[in-house]
Amino acid sequence: MIIAIDGPSGAGKSTVAKAVAKKLDFDCLDTGAMYRAVAWMAQHRGVELDDAAGLEDIARNCPISFGRDGGAQTVAIDGVDVTSDIRTATIDRAVSPVSACPAVRVALVDQQRRIGRAGNYVVEGRDIGTVVFPDAEVKVFLTASPEERAHRRVRQNVDRGVGSIDYETVLADIIRRDDIDSNRAASPLKPAADAVHMDSTGTYIEDVIDQICALARQ
Ligand code: C5P
Repeated sequence: MIIAIDGPSGAGKSTVAKAVAKKLDFDCLDTGAMYRAVAWMAQHRGVELDDAAGLEDIARNCPISFGRDGGAQTVAIDGVDVTSDIRTATIDRAVSPVSACPAVRVALVDQQRRIGRAGNYVVEGRDIGTVVFPDAEVKVFLTASPEERAHRRVRQNVDRGVGSIDYETVLADIIRRDDIDSNRAASPLKPAADAVHMDSTGTYIEDVIDQICALARQ
């Protein structure tokens, strides 16, 4: 069974996906982390963000793997653990051009389908219900206001111990990324026609989690 959770950055997808997976005893697949890992490797190797062939080479030939460190999920690309290195402002900026590259998307969507088909997964991303798993049993499109999402991102960075960031900068970055993600030619961010819309602004995240679990149990 696949539960697809799509929506913009900071809408609460990760928190919700992890909690739903725990309650239902599913695994979790964070597809954003895969695009971030490719962006990290591009920077590491000095591949320009407009070098489509260089980016495709990374996405096709550098395996991305997920592991566990205690309760937390870890991400590695080509054997290098990048769990915290992919959560920086530099990668926030680099990831949009990387994910707008059609060849990167094809390569990562292949990997995502292989992983998801192997079990029961909560898969979070931007195109899960529309492209990756159009036949997912449950599809949710989760949003929140840009201001709420910026506040969450600031708090999240502090919680992750990766340093504090300026709210206004984060808000501007979120609005810029929404614009790129929604208007790109390759798999733009949009709800699937049959997705259930949920807005986590001013709503207890527990209510969102319970609603998704109820949909899965139907
Ligand atoms: O979810 P997260 O913010 O970590 O995703 C990082 C970026 O990866 C997004 O801004 C988006 O450009 C891209 N992405 C995507 N398709 C997905 C998941 C993420 O294009 N399925």
